[in-house]
Amino acid sequence: MTDLKKRKKRRKKLLKSKKGGVIASFFVFIIFAAMLLSLFVVMASMTSEASIKNTLIAELDKATIVRRSYASNDGDEAIGILEKSEIDYILLDKQGNVISQSGKDTRKKRGGKFLHATSFSSEDETLSNDELLKKYTYTLYGDSENDVISIDEVPEDEPLDEADPIDINGFRFFKEVIRTLDSSDVNGDPSDGSDDFSEGFKDGYNKDQRPVDMKAIMEEKDSVQLPVWVQMDIPEKEQTVYFRCVISMNILNLSFLIELLVFSGVVIAIMFIAFIVMIIRGLLNIRRMRNLLFTDIKVDGRNWLWFVYNAESTLSKHKNAKKIFALIDLEFIGYRRFCVCNSVDEGEVLLKNVAKKLRGYVDKKELCAHNAEDSFALMLRYTDDESFKNRLEMILSALSDTVQNNSLAFHAGVFLLPALDGGFFAKRKNVDTETDFINASAACATLADNSGNAVMFYNDKLVEEQKWINTVTQTQQKALDNEEFIVYYQPKYDPRTHELRGAEALIRWQSPEYGFLSPYKFIPIFENNGFITKIDHYMISHVARDQRKWLDLGLKCVPVSVNVSRAHFIESDLAEQIRDIVDAEGTPHEYIEIELTESAFFDDKDAMVETINRLKGYGFAVSMDDFGSGYSSLNSLKDMPLDVLKLDAEFFRGEAADTERGELVVSEAIRLAKNLDMRTVAEGVEVKEQVEFLASQGCDMIQGYYFAKPMPHDEYEERIRKGRSDGKDEESLNNE
Ligand code: C2E
Ligand code: CA
Ligand code: CA
Repeated sequence: MTDLKKRKKRRKKLLKSKKGGVIASFFVFIIFAAMLLSLFVVMASMTSEASIKNTLIAELDKATIVRRSYASNDGDEAIGILEKSEIDYILLDKQGNVISQSGKDTRKKRGGKFLHATSFSSEDETLSNDELLKKYTYTLYGDSENDVISIDEVPEDEPLDEADPIDINGFRFFKEVIRTLDSSDVNGDPSDGSDDFSEGFKDGYNKDQRPVDMKAIMEEKDSVQLPVWVQMDIPEKEQTVYFRCVISMNILNLSFLIELLVFSGVVIAIMFIAFIVMIIRGLLNIRRMRNLLFTDIKVDGRNWLWFVYNAESTLSKHKNAKKIFALIDLEFIGYRRFCVCNSVDEGEVLLKNVAKKLRGYVDKKELCAHNAEDSFALMLRYTDDESFKNRLEMILSALSDTVQNNSLAFHAGVFLLPALDGGFFAKRKNVDTETDFINASAACATLADNSGNAVMFYNDKLVEEQKWINTVTQTQQKALDNEEFIVYYQPKYDPRTHELRGAEALIRWQSPEYGFLSPYKFIPIFENNGFITKIDHYMISHVARDQRKWLDLGLKCVPVSVNVSRAHFIESDLAEQIRDIVDAEGTPHEYIEIELTESAFFDDKDAMVETINRLKGYGFAVSMDDFGSGYSSLNSLKDMPLDVLKLDAEFFRGEAADTERGELVVSEAIRLAKNLDMRTVAEGVEVKEQVEFLASQGCDMIQGYYFAKPMPHDEYEERIRKGRSDGKDEESLNNE
């Protein structure tokens, strides 16, 4: 997995874990509440079942006594006992014919065996265990008018003492309790159904707004009636009697159940409130955490994490698929310098102000965050090149004015995220803002530090360039050690006599990996990364060695100029460094000339003049390269004690070159140089007419394809031997 992917995963995890807490606590609550509720239900049903069974046993005892008494009497007296018992019954003969009955026959058809052994009589003492079990086993039937108690059939093979056919339906039982409470009147006239108990029960208040005394209600209430039929055989008379035993549960006794229910309700309600409070606190915490996670204290704004998170979610949305967005790396150039020149504190205040100002230019649906120390990340909406560029430039120039009397510079690297082509449901997939932002940064990195406010759009070529810069930087030292850099010489000829007067040493890179490379491919990179000073030394040293060798061969050597980079020229002991390198080869100084570029004169004029003077003092000629190529340095010419002025090839290129005005400029430049006691070299001259014109104007030397292209060492040696050129040299033109 790449570093980027790992970072992305870690970030997702960081943000996700916060949500997990709420969900987890919700589940814990649900499980806990369910457990508590089921515990209460089990407890309630167990208690009510136990109490119902106990009451049933008492009823059975009563019935047993009635049966016994009936059995031991005869005739009408016996029937009278049954009738007086206040228990509904059905007396059947052997054939199942009703002998006597009191109340309705509401027996259910299916019955179950039930054993209870509390009502022993004295005659029981003689019975065996089995006989006892048999004697006190009753068959019970449910009642069709009340289905709270249902009687199940007990399988034949189940031991009697374990048989338990009674099943109490807790839900129906509770309904029955409520119905009983509901059916009677509390405070008013029982016949007036309007003053219904249920209203008082529900609200805790009755109609007249008098508080309801629950206990009083309970006491006044009837009990809940639960009938069960019991079958008792009377073997003495070959009859069977069914008693309707009514289990009467006093409401007051049942209040415990209600209290239990109310209690569990209250506990769950409290838990629910606690849970809600916990969730709210959790959410607030998440918000606080996120804020903390997403805040950049340095600028009192949003940070990189926030930016990436929001950029990716914005870009991934369906509704944004058709919109073009621009990721921008906005860099504050010279922020560090500002801190050094002022103070870190002042720097931080400035950064805060810049950030605040920047936020003012960003719409609500756009993003702005502090990325690194002196860089900000933006995601802006893009419509068209023109207006987007204008807007960006306007932002940069506004930021530049953040402090008075101190113009700040900002660079913006832009990476565009195009709109998607797909249909209505298209959306951006695998959005990777970190990688995209690197492209914006790469675009920004191509802007030179001193370019003021500047905007650069990313393109593939730019990346290739960056890659190439990287490759060159990685391999430069190895190439130098392996002597892959080669000196080419480009002769300079006198335009009148065509005699060889000098040459310029120009570098080439013969790379085993990348082939034969022009200096344009690598010199600017070396100038940027500082390697150029080593290259300059290398060139001076090789040229001095070649010159020494040619002198030793007795050849008529001419001065060879070597380019010294502007970056190198600021070194205070440059003149001494050059002297030492040349001396190391034992080459007389008059054979080496130093070329400086015109732009170098702007850095530090005094130091420059000092170095030139010292070089001249050691006997080296110094020339100004590329004169007229960009900066106007007429002014500096008067202060610089230079020997040679090299007129830039631009003078001889294009249509304007051959016009009267063009020629006038050239002739004036030559005249100026002569007046300042300088020799002139015209660079980049390719045509005969120009050579003739320059000859007529008194130009001292010509370095151009007309006479010769830059050439390798051996070829140049031939040129020295020849000394003179026959004019346009076809052979040399084919060399490169
Ligand atoms: P430069 O110093 O201005 O070198 C002159 C460039 O103009 C050379 O390109 C040369 O080949 C080219 N040139 C000369 N006559 C003609 C002509 O008639 N027509 C055309 N089209 N071009 C002509 P080159 O050798 O590719 O060097 C390019 C630049 O690279 C040089 O410009 C110089 O700035 C830099 N450079 C080359 N060698 C060195 C070096 O050893 N050290 C440093 N610091 N820079 C070097
Ligand atoms: Ca040059
Ligand atoms: Ca030049």
